[in-house]
Amino acid sequence: MTSHPLLEQLNDKQCAAVGAPERHMLVLAGAGSGKTRVLVHRIAWLMQELHLSPYSIMAVTFTNKAAAEMRGRVEDLVGSSTRAMWIGTFHGLAHRLLRAHYMDVGLPQNFQILDSDDQQRMLKRIMRSLNLDEKRWSPKQAQWFINAKKDEGLRPHHLDGYDFNERTYKEIYDAYQVACDRAGLVDFAELLLRAHELLRDNRIVREHYQRRFRHLLVDEFQDTNSIQYAWIKLLSGAGEEKKEHQNFVTIVGDDDQSIYGWRGAKIENIHQFNRDFPNVETIRLEQNYRSTNTILSAANSVIANNSDRLGKELWTEGSTGDPIDLYAAYNEIDEARYISSQIEAWHEQGNALQDVALLYRSNAQSRVLEEALLHARIPYRIYGGLRFFDRQEVKDALAYLRLLANRDDDAALERVINTPTRGIGARTLDIVREGARQRGTSLWLAAKQLATEKVLTGRAANAVLAFVDLIEQLEDETGDYSLGRQVDTVIKSSGLMAMYQAEKGEKAETRVENLKELVNACDNFDQLDRPGEEEELSPLNGFLAHAALESGDEQADEHQDAVQLMTLHSAKGLEFPLVFMCGVEEGLFPSQQSLDEAGRLAEERRLCYVGMTRAMQKLVISYAENRRVYGQEKLHTASRFIAEIPSENLHHVRMQSRRSFSTDTPSYGRFHTGASHEAFEETGFQLGQRVRHVKFGEGTVLNYEGSGPQSRIQVNFDDLGSKWLVVAYARLERC
Ligand code: ATP
Ligand code: MG
Repeated sequence: MTSHPLLEQLNDKQCAAVGAPERHMLVLAGAGSGKTRVLVHRIAWLMQELHLSPYSIMAVTFTNKAAAEMRGRVEDLVGSSTRAMWIGTFHGLAHRLLRAHYMDVGLPQNFQILDSDDQQRMLKRIMRSLNLDEKRWSPKQAQWFINAKKDEGLRPHHLDGYDFNERTYKEIYDAYQVACDRAGLVDFAELLLRAHELLRDNRIVREHYQRRFRHLLVDEFQDTNSIQYAWIKLLSGAGEEKKEHQNFVTIVGDDDQSIYGWRGAKIENIHQFNRDFPNVETIRLEQNYRSTNTILSAANSVIANNSDRLGKELWTEGSTGDPIDLYAAYNEIDEARYISSQIEAWHEQGNALQDVALLYRSNAQSRVLEEALLHARIPYRIYGGLRFFDRQEVKDALAYLRLLANRDDDAALERVINTPTRGIGARTLDIVREGARQRGTSLWLAAKQLATEKVLTGRAANAVLAFVDLIEQLEDETGDYSLGRQVDTVIKSSGLMAMYQAEKGEKAETRVENLKELVNACDNFDQLDRPGEEEELSPLNGFLAHAALESGDEQADEHQDAVQLMTLHSAKGLEFPLVFMCGVEEGLFPSQQSLDEAGRLAEERRLCYVGMTRAMQKLVISYAENRRVYGQEKLHTASRFIAEIPSENLHHVRMQSRRSFSTDTPSYGRFHTGASHEAFEETGFQLGQRVRHVKFGEGTVLNYEGSGPQSRIQVNFDDLGSKWLVVAYARLERC
């Protein structure tokens, strides 16, 4: 068997999984042991050896990017197209199902996806119309409640509403769902839930897909939630009495990498799988091919502190490798500067920037890192999180497009009816909302009717009618245009472009560039060959769905050699020769909340394990002793996870004494000022130094900018927090 080309470069256990006869399979193994590789080879095997058509295969991955990569790798292996294979995220696949069966699930053909931001706005509006006390009930909490219920498969009528809280949320959920259904809007959780209901309640549809998808393969299974698991069960017909066709499910996962418990993911689904599916063959992979011995044993030691593990051994034939560098930074700016200097050194040795990843616990940490990279002129790309399609101006433009595609899209109308300002004030909008509520119509229709029926009068009516005209004219005018030209026209005719052009400053410039980039994105999308999109979708609807589903993949020039920045969560499944894990401090990682809630600390530790095991050759861990959180400088200590790494695996990068630290690192300070350290030294102060101010008392020097008499110094006063002072006037004394 091992002579088969598909089994070359696989170890015995991997071969057993790839070349297994058709059956249910669970591949349970630690990080970097080749789980994803097994999945790819298994798909190729099914096609080549068992002669299955790609049409009969569905594969689920965690990100759109992973799906595209997987498709490419399978095609490389089999040398033919896999267009007919369904591959994507649970959300992406659910969206396809709903598009194909919109009538069966009671959605309009042009239904739109409501992203998290729009969902919150919509909830805010609904909660206002229910006259709920805004201080007591927050849209964010309502959003969380609704999504959590949907993830469990629960509709409002499933909730008993025993206590007052739940009763109120139930009422909000109810009103929200009515509004979404009326407007043809589907939020992320609804995609999964509705697709699930479709499969559950519609026997014909269910059997069609059961017949079609003989093999179902799921990567990163440890992070599936209840509704996703229920989906797999339905599609595979597990537990159904009479079945004419056979379905086989392969899941791969690692309980130690379950990091979405906070979003409803259930590790227990791994056990459940064994109970729900007959004759599951479990295969364990134990050899790690990714990391050096040092990195692997450090990661193993950290995760060993968790209890309730399924227990896996991981070993490698790889070299010992370098020790893990540990850098104790003075503050977050110093940390960022250290990292960028290390990247420069790496690059100077002839290594590629794209082989470097910067991982952090929370998105907000990226800003300082970005600043340091910009300063050092190191190109970077942010993966996930800060999505291009999340930016305000892009969302404005998309809202116009959504309204063109579907007039009943209330969320889109709310966003742009007065952007740019066209004299439709809050009062007019209130009247329109109330009108829509009373008549049970969309905001669009209500606005139009109220203006023509002269319920709205004078300037307000004219403004509303002008808006209605604008949208209708835009549709007439651009209906036959290419997508790019349509978007270009919409951005210009709506006044959006002029509005952002009129704003001043760098931010506005970026916004204008982003709008232009959106036109580029549409042009590219129009020309794209989209594999597997069988359903007829107009380019506009296709693009809107793409914008809502895609996460950040489009934001930077793919071809440029650039460092990758991302949260630890979005690094799952990826690997990089050089990895920096930053901000590894108590209170940040593990996060403050995780210290207060049972089970959360273990999840943070799994996240740490995920982060460490992304590194192939070299891992650098850093933490900052001072970090500004919500504008306040706070003292931090190294994370407990660092203490869990065996000391023989660590190399403490010399924490330069404050003195040598300042002379060694002339570029230290606020990155954009270019202030030299020598010039700062002339003021007689040093970073980290204790000083006294006549009025503010004692504090520590944190930062500086500028030089000479005008230089400013930032001091964290013990009683008052941090302040910026002009050195020449502050009359600070050294303690
Ligand atoms: P994670 O848990 O992080 O998702 P994984 O188990 O999915 O990891 P892969 O990403 O499939 O692991 O593999 C890790 C690395 O090891 C990849 O670079 C892969 O190409 C390589 N690899 C896997 N198996 C082998 C093998 N038998 N021989 C050589 N390299 C291998
Ligand atoms: Mg993987």
